[in-house]
Order: sequence, then C-alpha cells, then structure tokens
Amino acid sequence: IASHLLAYFFTELNHDQAQKVDKYLYHMRLSEETLQEVSQRFRKEMEKGLGADTNPTASVKMLPTFVRSTPDGTENGDFLALDLGGTNFRVLRVRVSDNGLQQVEMENQIYAIPEELMRGSGVQLFDHIAECLANFMDKLNIKDEKLPLGFTFSFPCRQTKLDESILVTWTKGFKCSGVEGKDVVSMLRRSIKKRGDFDIDIVAVVNDTVGTMMTCGYDDHNCEIGLIVGTGTNACYMEEMRHIDLVEGDEGRMCINMEWGAFGDDGVLNDIRTEFDREIDMGSLNPGKQLFEKMISGMYMGELVRLILVKMTKEGLLFNGRLSSDLLTTGHFETRYVSAIEKEKEGLQKAHEILTKLGLEPSHEDCMATHRICQIVSTRSANLCGATLAAVLRRIKENKGLDRLRSTVGVDGTVYKKHPHFARRLHKTVRKLLPDCDIRFARSEDGSGKGAAMVTAVAYRLAAQHKA
Ligand code: BGC
Ligand code: MG
Repeated sequence: IASHLLAYFFTELNHDQAQKVDKYLYHMRLSEETLQEVSQRFRKEMEKGLGADTNPTASVKMLPTFVRSTPDGTENGDFLALDLGGTNFRVLRVRVSDNGLQQVEMENQIYAIPEELMRGSGVQLFDHIAECLANFMDKLNIKDEKLPLGFTFSFPCRQTKLDESILVTWTKGFKCSGVEGKDVVSMLRRSIKKRGDFDIDIVAVVNDTVGTMMTCGYDDHNCEIGLIVGTGTNACYMEEMRHIDLVEGDEGRMCINMEWGAFGDDGVLNDIRTEFDREIDMGSLNPGKQLFEKMISGMYMGELVRLILVKMTKEGLLFNGRLSSDLLTTGHFETRYVSAIEKEKEGLQKAHEILTKLGLEPSHEDCMATHRICQIVSTRSANLCGATLAAVLRRIKENKGLDRLRSTVGVDGTVYKKHPHFARRLHKTVRKLLPDCDIRFARSEDGSGKGAAMVTAVAYRLAAQHKA
C-alpha cells in the first residue's frame, strides 16, 4: 500500500510540476493551428526569396547552389574535403568507387579552431585551414598529389558557379573580419599559395544541407531535401529551374540552399517569439539575425532552458528562489544536458546530477519542472522545423503536380541525431501537417564530410562527360 501511495503521490506531484511549467511557458507551446500558420508564412517567404524583384528584400534568401544533379553511382576517384561550420572542423579524404556497391571510404581528422580565430581576422582563419590541410596531407603522404577538393562551408553564400562562393553573413559562433562579401575560395587559394608546400584543385563549395542531401541521394534517388538541425539549422531542396529567377535557364532542377535560419528576420515571427527568444538574440554575436535558428538549433537550445530556469527561480518558482553563479553564466547549461534530461529512464536522475553540478540544491519537484522545461523547448524546436519542412514538401508536391508525394528527406545534425525524442516529434509534426504525403527520413552518414566529396565527384563525372 505504501509504495502504491508513493507512486500516486509522485504522479500527482509530477502533474503539478508539469502544470506549473506549462502555464508559465504557455507561449512556447504551439498549437497545430499555429504550426499550419507558420508553415504558410514560410511558404510565402520561399516565394519571396525566389522572385527576382523580391529577393533583395527577402529574409529567406533561397540561394542557388549550382548543384543540378544528384549522384548516379558511377562517380569515382579520390577527393579531399573540408568541413567548416558544424560542431567540429575537419579535413577528410574520401575514396569513391563505382564498383557496383557504391562504396565510399574515408579518413578524417578533427582540428581545433580556437575561439580567437573564430572571431579574429579572416586571413588568419584561412591560413589556419591551409595549415590543417597541409598537416593532414603530410600524414597521408599525399602532399605531392594535386587532388580535387570539396569545401563544405556551412554559412549563407551567394554562388554564381560551383567554385565561387561569396559569404553573405557569418552565423552561429563565427565572426571573422574581412570575409563577408568575399569569395571564400579565393581566400583559401591565397592562403595555400602563400605556404607553397602543396597544391590543390578546389572544385566545389557546398552548404552542409546540400552535402546531406547528396549523401542520402547516393542510396535513395527520391532524396530531394537536405535538412540540418545541429549547431545551426537550415534546409535545401531541388527546385524547378523555371522557378529560379536568379539563374538563367528553364530546364531541369537546381538545388536551393534556403537559409531558413533567417526566417523571421523581417518580423514575421514576432507574434510567436517570447521574451526568452528576444533575450537570446540580444546576447548573440548577430543580433536581429537568424531569428528562426535561435528558436531551434543546438547552439541556443540549452541557453533558452537556462534563461527560463533563471527567470522562474527569480520569481521563487524553483530552487526555493536560490540561484547559483553557474546558472547565471551564459552557456553553462549546455544543449547536451537537454538531451540527457529528456532520456526516458534516467532523465530525472540526470536532471538531479546536472542541476547539482551547477551549484543548485534541486528538490524532486525542481527536477521534474526542469525536465518539463526541456521538453517544451525541444518540442517547440521540432514543431517549428516540422512546419517549415512541411511547406517545402508541399511546394515540391505542387511543382510535380502530384496528388500524393513520395519523398525522402536526408537529415543530419547533433540535435536530430542525439536528442532522444527530437526526430520522432519532427516526423510526427510533418505527417500531421501533411497527411497526403509519404515522407521518408534518412539519417545522413556524415553529410557535411562525404557530401562535399560527392558534389565534387559528380562535378568531375559531368566534366568528363562533357569532354567525351
Ligand atoms: C547557416 C547555414 C547552415 C546551418 C546548419 C546556419 O547557421 O547559415 O548555412 O546550413 O547553419 O549548419
Ligand atoms: Mg555538419
């Protein structure tokens, strides 16, 4: 009987805590109706970005990538790839072989980018990248080969061809001087030339979303969308050339890097943004920019939870009103804590450990409330991604004039892959908002690494075909 009572007591307690938090975070819990509304608004933003007249003032830039075909499996060769802009900076060698099994082999090395370099001068950043490349080639003993290189550069860029890429604006944790408005390929070439100890053929610059779509497209030819929910968030998809005003020609399709992180930068999401979203933005490296990304991605998720915890504590709703200096420090509530706290079995135990480590003395109620806060913040993130993704899928469906769309979304990113419930919630939202589509989600295996090599390999194959 005692354990029965205890169980009852905790369920009730749990319920009370959840209710307290639910009431407090009322504006973060988005109804299906609101999500449909967000989806429709995003659809309008897509059209604005695609139109020649409206593009200059559009916040969602819909950038042409000059990637026109997905891999067909006949690509082969050795390629180098760089991956900058995700959780880690990496150099890779990717070996693509067309032996029927479509095998891809790779070696890769993570290199640190010190924070001073992320916010220093652009020249220093590219010198560092060139140095890491040299080190990697030394290790593989390939410094005297001039290999083709694909560069995954996960920031908004204007492209006029595959191997020219002008940075529009830095996002996430980067803010180097003298790069915005410049071609990153020229900057990298200059840094390599200055060293003089190796040479390389920079063939393509790709966004991580594009790389993700390409790696999934290698196995699944229905894959026409690439999605990232990691440090940042963004998606790309295959659009009909006739709808892309910014690029000459009407035949076939081209991949569009949407840069959906900037959705809302013109104010269209102000009615759903909360005081916490505004606070995150004001304290960021790029105030007023990437407002949608700041409601969703891994760089901000933990921080959102922290701001909520601080405010609720100040109002006496948590931790007996007692704060700690750790809880008051920006960045000290990491996004991986959100994932840990939402784990099915050990979540509450984790909450207790984490909060204690942050110098708090959490009660059982505090742990349950924190769990609920994490749930609300990460669910909102999944729901918002689902709303914009549904808009993209609806557009593809209309482009194809189909009654029922079958399509695959290639996905990568730490939030999607590491959070225990994010993927499931995202899938559910998309299916709810789009009942007339059969959507498959394929986890990309290292899209930003292999993907750049795949784009390079496809470009190589096409160049060879043109010569023949
Ligand atoms: C960048 C995108 C990128 C996304 C995911 C955003 O901050 O602007 O280019 O695809 O992060 O890495
Ligand atoms: Mg990545």
